[in-house]
Amino acid sequence: MRAYERCPYMYHLRYTERIRTPSTAAQLLGRAVHTVIEDYYKQKRSGGAAMGTETAFDVLDDALDAMLHELDDAGREEAEEMRELGYDLVEYYVEEVAPHIRPHLIEKRFSFNVPGVDVPIVGYVDLVDQEGTVIDHKTSASPFPEDYLAQDVQLLTYSLGYNALRSGARQRPGQLPLIHMLPPVRLDILIKGDEITYQRLDFRYAQEHVDRYVERVNAVAAGIRAADFRPFWQIREPDPAVCNYCDFNSVCEYRLPPAAEPEDDSGEANADVPELK
Ligand code: SF4
Repeated sequence: MRAYERCPYMYHLRYTERIRTPSTAAQLLGRAVHTVIEDYYKQKRSGGAAMGTETAFDVLDDALDAMLHELDDAGREEAEEMRELGYDLVEYYVEEVAPHIRPHLIEKRFSFNVPGVDVPIVGYVDLVDQEGTVIDHKTSASPFPEDYLAQDVQLLTYSLGYNALRSGARQRPGQLPLIHMLPPVRLDILIKGDEITYQRLDFRYAQEHVDRYVERVNAVAAGIRAADFRPFWQIREPDPAVCNYCDFNSVCEYRLPPAAEPEDDSGEANADVPELK
């Protein structure tokens, strides 16, 4: 959904053409930290002693080492430089955040249907605590906007997915739950820097969020069904920054030229927009 909403052509390259883009060292580090967090809660839920910091470092090393083959030489060098940052991130998480969370459910597969869409939404919910809050984790270079959870689809999908899991057969296919049934969500963000900092966002969805979600899922599904894979700048305002941050910008024939310098703010960058073939 995110890819299609950002740029339908990006979705096409990733999911129809299945073009692979190389991972970055930062992505690998994020995945390795995620593995530590997952292992931490699995161990905690199984009743064993809480994972110590040294063990967390070992898990991080093993996870990172197993992924290094995805990088080229320069990327591997960068990943080695980032390893210390990884230690700092897991140390902070294991000592400051994780002890306050009592896990109930970890990495559980869900499936549910959205009214109007003929394929199920399938995914994995990362973590649900014993209070029934759906929790996700991110690492980031900067804090997230305070209203992030009101706009993003991922945690709402997890909340709907967990609700479908716990409702089982009581939830009819194609029906979404009453809003008061929807579990609350929480996003824990570890912010990278000289000092690791932490941001926590909590949210409870209202009916308007679910209604908007249903609209968005239907719009994306209809676009994919119709094979409408126009680059985003044919649908909304051209913003070269979207292409700058796109994983496919080195192979995309519709990439927007970089933004004009401020003193040359004549809109000419948009005049060079390539035609859709
Ligand atoms: S480079 Fe730009 S136009 Fe091409 S797929 Fe990415 S966002 Fe879309």
